[in-house]
Amino acid sequence: MKLAIPEHIRGLVPYPPGKPLEELEREYGITGSIKMASNENSLGPSPKAVAAIGQALGNLHRYPDGSCYYLAQAVARHQQVSPAQIVFGNGSDEIISLLAAALVQPGDEVISSAPSFLVYPKVAQAQGGVNRVVPLNDLRHDLTAIREQITGRTRLIFLDNPNNPTGTMFGRQAFERFLAQVPEGVVTVLDEAYIDFADPGQRLDIRDYLDGDRPVAGLRTFSKAYGLAGLRVGYGLMPPALADCLHRVRGPFNVNSLAQIGALAALTDTEHYQRTLAMTREGIAWLHEQLPSLGLTPLPTETNFFLVDLGRDGKAFYQAMLKKGVIVRPMNAYGLPTYIRITVGTAAENKRLLKAMADTLAELGQ
Ligand SMILES: *Cc1c(COP(=O)(O)O)cnc(C)c1O
Repeated sequence: MKLAIPEHIRGLVPYPPGKPLEELEREYGITGSIKMASNENSLGPSPKAVAAIGQALGNLHRYPDGSCYYLAQAVARHQQVSPAQIVFGNGSDEIISLLAAALVQPGDEVISSAPSFLVYPKVAQAQGGVNRVVPLNDLRHDLTAIREQITGRTRLIFLDNPNNPTGTMFGRQAFERFLAQVPEGVVTVLDEAYIDFADPGQRLDIRDYLDGDRPVAGLRTFSKAYGLAGLRVGYGLMPPALADCLHRVRGPFNVNSLAQIGALAALTDTEHYQRTLAMTREGIAWLHEQLPSLGLTPLPTETNFFLVDLGRDGKAFYQAMLKKGVIVRPMNAYGLPTYIRITVGTAAENKRLLKAMADTLAELGQ
């Protein structure tokens, strides 16, 4: 077969293809494994969302509401923004793609950091854009170096705040100093997937900058604190003129009906949300207290996950943990080959993780 694949598409690397959990369990002859690898909500989905979705199943023969009308009204109220400032997507991943599709032409430049979320350089490349990837400084976004990478062709700057995978966050002052030096016309995107978990006292909030003279966008998701990663729903907050561009680019029914209904219900489920935050806070504190007894120093975090430098090959450690039914994320794809990333779990899961880590260390030899 002869396909005329553009060079920039040939160069893309597919997202690391994990096997389904069931398949791994079969291969390793284990059952009841726990996944602490993808920053999901270990508490499960919001029960209100599950109930609302159950009631909506009989309407699956209908197309969804392409405008996400009710969800937009509810999020606008919840976030105190206007519905014209919101764009929903099939996960906030889709908003990242839409931003690139709307703004990046071949040869245009997109700035992101490394190690950081791997989706940003990918969507830029898919548009034929040129990536300028700035190394973190001491595991934090290097805002000074990022500013120095801006050229006349820069269209987008992606900053996840807090950053995945390091869990670090920059605050208002640093951001305002940075934003003041970004030329007009460059869109700065703050990916706030983990903002719910961040210290409210330190937190910078994109909503405070939506009306400024520099175009900004903030990304939020129902995948983490709301426990709905499998539904695929997230949104961007941005000036109406930018939202308008994304609406032109997006598919007509990009958010499915169950996702809209589930997200709407989850938004009202304050109890599940608060329990999630409490579980996360307690789990992080407990693991940070316990891991030093294994000779490990977990890094501080503003999220529901954290990094640990094992001082040894993280992939081998991950594989040994897998055989014990505990799945963590090795960081070699992020350029941190001796690190693993751990998503906080329930108290029982955290205990099991700790035991598996102790056994793995004993097995592999200190
Ligand atoms: C998990 C995550 C998201 C959320 O993606 P969805 O597509 O909404 O599930 C976005 N950005 C970062 C940095 C993440 O880690």
